[in-house]
Amino acid sequence: MAKRDYYEVLGVSKTASADDIKKAYRGMARKHHPDVDKTAGAEGRFKEINEAYQVLSDAQKREAYDRFGHAAFQAGGAQGQPGGGFQYQYGPGVSFDFDFGGFRDPFDIFEEFFGSRSPFGRQSRRGPARGQDLHFEITLPFENAAFGVTRNIEIPRRETCSECSGSGAAKGSKPVTCPACRGSGRVSNQTQSIFGAFMTMSPCPTCRGEGTVILKKCPKCKGSGIVRGIKETQIKIPAGVDDGDTIRFQRLGEAGEKGGEYGDLYLTIRVLPHKFLKRAGFDVYYEQPISFTQAALGDVIEVPTLDGKVNLKIPEGIQTGTELRLKERGIVHGQSRGDQYVRVKVVTPKHLSARQKEALEELK
Ligand SMILES: [Zn+2]
Ligand SMILES: [Zn+2]
Repeated sequence: MAKRDYYEVLGVSKTASADDIKKAYRGMARKHHPDVDKTAGAEGRFKEINEAYQVLSDAQKREAYDRFGHAAFQAGGAQGQPGGGFQYQYGPGVSFDFDFGGFRDPFDIFEEFFGSRSPFGRQSRRGPARGQDLHFEITLPFENAAFGVTRNIEIPRRETCSECSGSGAAKGSKPVTCPACRGSGRVSNQTQSIFGAFMTMSPCPTCRGEGTVILKKCPKCKGSGIVRGIKETQIKIPAGVDDGDTIRFQRLGEAGEKGGEYGDLYLTIRVLPHKFLKRAGFDVYYEQPISFTQAALGDVIEVPTLDGKVNLKIPEGIQTGTELRLKERGIVHGQSRGDQYVRVKVVTPKHLSARQKEALEELK
């Protein structure tokens, strides 16, 4: 069958703007959506509209189409792509992926237009919905953030009912086909609109689109398939986390209804300040007061670090504000570790004896 001109399919002129094309597409898609258009060949028309839009809404593809027509998309030795699409070649050395069937999920526009889930949409095709994600905060001592830590935590959450494994049906019974929609999960209604009367499909209110209903409810969860519980688990917080970081733990969120997958847990880290150390990235800073004579003559002193006290050599003649580096005494991250910087602060002596003053006079 000869392909129709894409401009003709959308009912626009060859000089139509991107906006005009979008508007025309929306109008056509709305009119010919298979849930609305019950005449023969509706599905094919809908596909044709989507195909035309996919080309004309993309500046590069549109240009190719204007120059070469449908020949621009003839499969020149087309090779199947893993995604089900094909790679098409046109003109000299230009190629792109073109997926006829896909066009997002064409039925997504059902939701966009009618505010309800298409009976062919994701929800009904992909089984029960995933549970909610949870967001909590956890407060850690400075050292735990520096070295990482394993913690036992308790998460209050909705869990899959163990009695019925989330089905909601009492032991020995099973969900049965919904009598209202005979298992299809959808019901049709006639709607009046400015476009005239049309049939729309909406999820069945009796079974909430599931196609089945429970006659004998599970006593533990009262048919919901979900119970409130507390999940006790051990989590590992990696070394190097900083205040405000958020870590995701898969499947530690809430259970989905009717046995749906668990959501994720997001933990935002709060790090308590350290008594002496200040963090900057993976390095830590410490301020060390030293005496005038230590600065002039040099010394070896003890300074606190994340690993306990270590010796630090003060070179003679050091100036106030000088930073001395203690290599790899900072925050652990991956296989490496930051440094500690000791900022020296020379304290000028205040109450000198006559002898000390005399000695200093000599330095002048
Ligand atoms: Zn149950
Ligand atoms: Zn139903």
